[in-house]
Amino acid sequence: MQVLSVTPEIFPLIKTGGLADVTGALPVALAAKGVTMRTLIPGFPMVMDAFKKKKSVYKYPLLQGGKASVHSVQLAGLDLFVLDAPHLFDRPGGPYGNAAGADWPDNWRRFAALSQAGADIAGGAISGYMPDIVHAHDWQSAMTLAYMRYGKAVGTPSMMTVHNLAFQGQFGAGIFGELGLPIAAMALDGVEYYGGVGFLKAGLQAAWAITTVSPTYAQEIRSPEFGMGLDGLINMRSSDLYGIVNGIDTAIWNPETDKHLVSNYTAASLKARALNRAAVEDRFGLDRDGSPIVCVVSRLTWQKGMDILATAVDGIVATGARLAILGSGDAGLEGALLAAAARHRGRIGVVVGYDEGLSHVMQGGCDAIVIPSRFEPCGLTQLYGLRYGCVPVVARTGGLADTIIDANEAAIAAGVATGFQFAPSDGAALLHAIRRLAEAHASPAIFEAIQRQGMKTDLSWDRSADKYVELYRLLLSKRVA
Ligand code: ADP
Repeated sequence: MQVLSVTPEIFPLIKTGGLADVTGALPVALAAKGVTMRTLIPGFPMVMDAFKKKKSVYKYPLLQGGKASVHSVQLAGLDLFVLDAPHLFDRPGGPYGNAAGADWPDNWRRFAALSQAGADIAGGAISGYMPDIVHAHDWQSAMTLAYMRYGKAVGTPSMMTVHNLAFQGQFGAGIFGELGLPIAAMALDGVEYYGGVGFLKAGLQAAWAITTVSPTYAQEIRSPEFGMGLDGLINMRSSDLYGIVNGIDTAIWNPETDKHLVSNYTAASLKARALNRAAVEDRFGLDRDGSPIVCVVSRLTWQKGMDILATAVDGIVATGARLAILGSGDAGLEGALLAAAARHRGRIGVVVGYDEGLSHVMQGGCDAIVIPSRFEPCGLTQLYGLRYGCVPVVARTGGLADTIIDANEAAIAAGVATGFQFAPSDGAALLHAIRRLAEAHASPAIFEAIQRQGMKTDLSWDRSADKYVELYRLLLSKRVA
């Protein structure tokens, strides 16, 4: 089976979020199951710089305002098609905006071009290559499925994966004329969205199947609360909607071998976590008193519920727990958390910034990780917490609801508990969960059983890849011969 994946990001070449982890891990996990996935990505500078021998397999005299070509290359163990279009992708800054963080004004053009190339490859533009299925990720590649639908590759099965419905790629109606689509596409059941053009909307409409990154999020986005304006369409397509939880890289995230840790350990040697805990206490200026350390490793944003955390800090300190917070984002939230640390010296420590190594030490030394997200398509930090015996305390939403088994009395008795869930995502519920955590922490036998049960959970990509393969097969069976 040949699958063409189209994505703006792929780990380890270009990453701004969990999407890159998924698109980077899937080809490897699928290869073991007899599925060959090749991936089309934009020729951002760091991608073009990574390969020397440039030989194009397809040329565009004109693609969205300039010359472009597609290169077939192998990089970092991945089979790639790279869309080289200097007028669109050869710029400093990030993949979607300049160094100051402002979106590029021609993002619609850049990702329409990527999508056009995806659809052309699906239609047989590259000699010797014809994918059986096309798999698009997020709004930046969603138009691939629209170009397929209104073009040559209309008979090729397609899948649209939504990693976060909050990002939709909405543009004014004025761009439609430059997309190269037939007039008929500017319709309610086409690319039209609230009077403009919606890239993700167009992909959701055209896809043979829609997936998102957890079953609960797949349900939630059918409601107005989580649907972000697309719930009507998603409901209409609900019989083609699936939720598949992400895996994690269990080689990188392995407490037995993790080089970032001060002290490596396994489920059989949890006491060795003490040295990592001491490193966290040093770094965050926390008292050494044996009380539970609850950590946060997160973007500091509204989605992540960091304002809820900020209002609950005094209550959390009152339970006797300590807080170690690593994150960056909203300046107001950074200020509020730093002020809380100043108010509660020794009980709350805050490091503002992004620090991969420190995030590993925190998972390897803290007793719990708290994730009060308002919505969470899948979430990774709770999965790392499970693997590291850093007990997740999570809002019952999206992937958090699907991956953590709440330590209620019955679950503790049955030995299946892996963390603590709370709902709704507000300060009172969060505080109640932290109190339950502190109570469990006071009984080492119970607490260690929860840690060990989490560490046993299968978080590998293997299981998720099986589910994708199953879906690909289903789509192939729907293809008209
Ligand atoms: P999202 O992609 O919505 O931010 P996820 O939980 O899916 O949330 O993934 C976040 C990833 O970024 C995790 O790997 C987490 O460890 C990492 N991360 C977030 N903030 C920081 C930080 N300040 N320092 C180090 N790693 C961070």
